[in-house]
Amino acid sequence: MRFASLGSGSAGNATVVEAGETRLLLDCGFSVKETVLRLSRLGLQAEQLSGIVITHEHDDHARGAFKLAARYQVPVWTTYGTYTMCQRYLPAQPLTVHIIDAHTTFAVQDIEVMPYPVPHDAREPAQFVFGDGARRFGVLTDVGSVTPHIVAMLHGCDGLLLECNHDLEMLRTGPYAHSLKKRVGGWLGHLDNQSSAKLLAQLDNSKLKHLVAAHLSEKNNTPALAQQALSEVLQCAADWVQIASQQQGLDWRAL
Ligand SMILES: [Zn+2]
Ligand SMILES: [Zn+2]
Repeated sequence: MRFASLGSGSAGNATVVEAGETRLLLDCGFSVKETVLRLSRLGLQAEQLSGIVITHEHDDHARGAFKLAARYQVPVWTTYGTYTMCQRYLPAQPLTVHIIDAHTTFAVQDIEVMPYPVPHDAREPAQFVFGDGARRFGVLTDVGSVTPHIVAMLHGCDGLLLECNHDLEMLRTGPYAHSLKKRVGGWLGHLDNQSSAKLLAQLDNSKLKHLVAAHLSEKNNTPALAQQALSEVLQCAADWVQIASQQQGLDWRAL
C-alpha cells in the first residue's frame, strides 16, 4: 500500500491511497483541471481512480469532488450529512454516490475503509483509516478536539497523516480577525501542533513508518514548528516528520 498528497492546506486538500490496482482519492478540494494536473505529477490519470471518499463539505475538501466523479465516472463515498451539504457542487451529469455510516467499515475493491466521526464545524464530518489487510494508513485533519474514539481508531498505524493546523501563539498574535481565531482554535475547529503531538503521544506508534504533518496554516504555522512538536513525541529527527504542503503536497510513500 502507498499514499501521496496532491496538496494540503486551507486552499485545497486531496490524498491518494493505493493498494494493488485500487486507488482512492480522499477529498478533492481543487478544481477538476488542477486535480488532473496534480494527479499527473504522481503519474496518475483520473480514469485510474476507483473511488472518491469525501470527509466533509468544506470547499477545501469538496470543491472539485463531484465534478471529477461525474466527468470520469468515479463513484463517491460520503456520509448523508456531507452529501446533503454538497448540493451546490453537484453537476448535472449522472453520479454514483454511496452513503456511508461514519461508524461502519466498508471496502472498495482491495482497500478497506474505516470511517470515524470527528468534532468539526460541518454537518456530519468523518475521517478515515485505510487498510489492505496487512497495513493501516490513518488520516486525521479538520478536527477541533481529540476524542477517545479518535485515539482508538489511529492506534497501530503504519502511516499517519495528522493535522498540524496552527501554532497556538502564532494564531493568538497573528492576523486573523477575533471571530476567525475563535473558530479555528475552538473545539469544532482545527488541531494545533501541541494538540496533535498530544494525540500522537497517546498512540501505539511501534509500526509507524511515515508520519506526515498536514493542513498547515500559511499564516499561523511553519513547517519547522509542526515538525518540532511531533518529533519531540517520537524522539526522532525533526525532518523525519514529513510535510504535506499546499503547493507540492507529498510524493508517494510506501507502507
Ligand atoms: Zn480543511
Ligand atoms: Zn473543514
